[in-house]
Amino acid sequence: MAAATVSSPWFLLSSYRALRPRTTPANLILRLSGRRIRAPVGLTAPHTRLFRHITHAVDEEASARAAAARVDSGAPTIFDKIISKEIPSTVVYEDDKVLAFRDINPQAPVHVLIIPKQRDGLTELGKADHRHEEVLGRLLYAAKVVAEKEGISEGFRVVINNGASACQSVYHLHLHVLGGRLMKWPPG
Ligand code: AMP
Repeated sequence: MAAATVSSPWFLLSSYRALRPRTTPANLILRLSGRRIRAPVGLTAPHTRLFRHITHAVDEEASARAAAARVDSGAPTIFDKIISKEIPSTVVYEDDKVLAFRDINPQAPVHVLIIPKQRDGLTELGKADHRHEEVLGRLLYAAKVVAEKEGISEGFRVVINNGASACQSVYHLHLHVLGGRLMKWPPG
């Protein structure tokens, strides 16, 4: 029956294979490109959601890989423009060393990013040096201050994505402060 075929997981894999002929279940995500792929017509709602979920994850991974490839160019990032107020942000905390502002794509009711005002080579945590010890402490302390200001002191999570395989997409060190909902473990 056509409807049953169209709604089956096998149809999903076949659709991907039509786009990427040598795709197998094991390397499905790795083989997909980062561009948005429309869900095939005729999928049931759950399979459309699954399709979008997978392609969204692939988008994130592809943009993280692209950002990682540019990391050593020294080019300004979007966060430099936020620091210079060239582009707007919703600032929740600021001092002489750090800036905290709301994430544009929040993953929790409270999702604040905290960045050093001077990047000073801190494109990612893995590039930290002894000279960064003070600012690293300031960033962590600012996370506590932000959690208090946002009323989530009772339970919050601080995340640093480091490198392409952790889906870091902006190469200016930043802490994510997340809260306002149950933060499950393990994270994705
Ligand atoms: P990461 O994936 O750890 O590098 O996190 C980068 C974060 O920056 C993501 O959560 C984005 O949603 C966030 N982001 C990107 N551009 C902006 C912006 N203009 N204002 C606020 N947050 C942003």
